[in-house]
Amino acid sequence: MKRTIKKALSVIRTPLVQLGQVYYQAKGSKFECNTCNHKTNSFKSNSWHQYSVCPNCTSNVRQRLLAASLQYLEAFRIDTIISDKRVLHFAPEPPIRKLIKGKARDYKTADFFAEGYAYDHIDYNLDISSMQTVPNESFDCVIACDVLEHVPDHIGGIREVYRILSKGGYCIFTVPQKDFLKITFEDQTVTDPDERERIYGQRDHLRIYGDDFVDMMQAAGFDVTAVDEHYFEEKLRTRHVLAPPVLSKHPLATNYRKVFFGKKL
Ligand SMILES: [Zn+2]
Repeated sequence: MKRTIKKALSVIRTPLVQLGQVYYQAKGSKFECNTCNHKTNSFKSNSWHQYSVCPNCTSNVRQRLLAASLQYLEAFRIDTIISDKRVLHFAPEPPIRKLIKGKARDYKTADFFAEGYAYDHIDYNLDISSMQTVPNESFDCVIACDVLEHVPDHIGGIREVYRILSKGGYCIFTVPQKDFLKITFEDQTVTDPDERERIYGQRDHLRIYGDDFVDMMQAAGFDVTAVDEHYFEEKLRTRHVLAPPVLSKHPLATNYRKVFFGKKL
């Protein structure tokens, strides 16, 4: 019975969403997701952040901040750093993948395959910190959003990304950051998943990052720009929900998200 109701709801969902979009097109809407163009007067909440998830594509703040950088910031426009380029996308999130896939000259995806997960849509099984099979300077843009916190040798990961990028190419990173934390916190003696969740925020995270993530990228040779909500006019920040509308009280929440662009000079 439950399944029948679920099926019936899924059948009527698409026309209802389309009807809603016609209404918002005519009447105007408070918000518009800048990864899927969905218009709405309310975003959804998740367990950490209120009213910050697109009800259509489930994009979150960091994904829309990245999309907005590619859409609105002169230095990082999609036409400049993605179009006609060779792009390698780690752990590709659907909203970002959709946005850039058709633009790149050669778009490849990668992940470090773990048991029990399906990777049908992934081109390469790669450990970002050890990519011997990838030649030097073979990509023009490497994207790894919320990947490095899972990687034991994350410094090696940043160095490897630098190595495989062409001169003038860009990496795009995001990492979970604790608000106002200066120095990244990591305790390698902590291996218990429950304890990792308590101190880092997730069972398979190995650290929680601070402001020194910029230093880590610079040490690898990157010219770094940390894009946050303030790179955008207030109208765009509100329209695309580029920051959590309500600050999360979770002690490990990233309320002030940054997208790190690193250029290989
Ligand atoms: Zn969306």
